Amino acid sequence: MHPDVAALLAVQDEDVAIHQLEQRLSELKPRLDALAKARADALASLKKVEGAAEAEERRRQEIAARVAQHRAHQAKNEATLSAVTTMKEATAATAQLEQTKRMIDEGERELATVGQHLVELNRQVDERRRIVEETELAQASAQESLGADQKEIEAQLGTVRASRQNRARAVPGSLLSRYERIRSRKRVHAVFPLRGVSCGNCDTMIPLQRRSGMLGTGATEICEGCGVMLYAAD
Ligand SMILES: [Zn+2]
Repeated sequence: MHPDVAALLAVQDEDVAIHQLEQRLSELKPRLDALAKARADALASLKKVEGAAEAEERRRQEIAARVAQHRAHQAKNEATLSAVTTMKEATAATAQLEQTKRMIDEGERELATVGQHLVELNRQVDERRRIVEETELAQASAQESLGADQKEIEAQLGTVRASRQNRARAVPGSLLSRYERIRSRKRVHAVFPLRGVSCGNCDTMIPLQRRSGMLGTGATEICEGCGVMLYAAD
């Protein structure tokens, strides 16, 4: 193998390592995003049930106020009844009393139903509050550990990039820029060995004349099938 090609392969090894580290780095963000979304969802769900519990509590207070009013009427009606002098007045006062009593009973029944709803809603509020706390804890600890991962990967990237720079100096400029042009087309590997008579990447057959040139001089060729750089391995 021509020493230039060997030097280029060393650069490619570093580039592949850089690519893998960058991949790992880019995978961290979606994980953090997913945790942030879980927390936002839990919060929204809590707010919703809190709103329902508040509305139900307002309803309970309205009904209780109404029942209190009916009770006040009731007291007045009882006083009226005790002061009646005629049968007609007694009948009217009794009818009033009965009507108020019905309204009080109805209000009490509503209060009981609303009270049950409130117990259930408050239970849901507690449960969802707990879920919010759990997602917050999970998010915080993941942020910490993913943050540590990120620092470590970035440190490794720094080292590998520096080493790549050094190795690139051993590769002739024209060869390096051809390699970089191929890699810029979203390729991780740009240099492949010949495999028998074919391209080591796509299996396209390479004409004998070009192969002999590669074997003779150690020159590289571009594969017409897939566009990668080919070299003759020893
Ligand atoms: Zn090919």
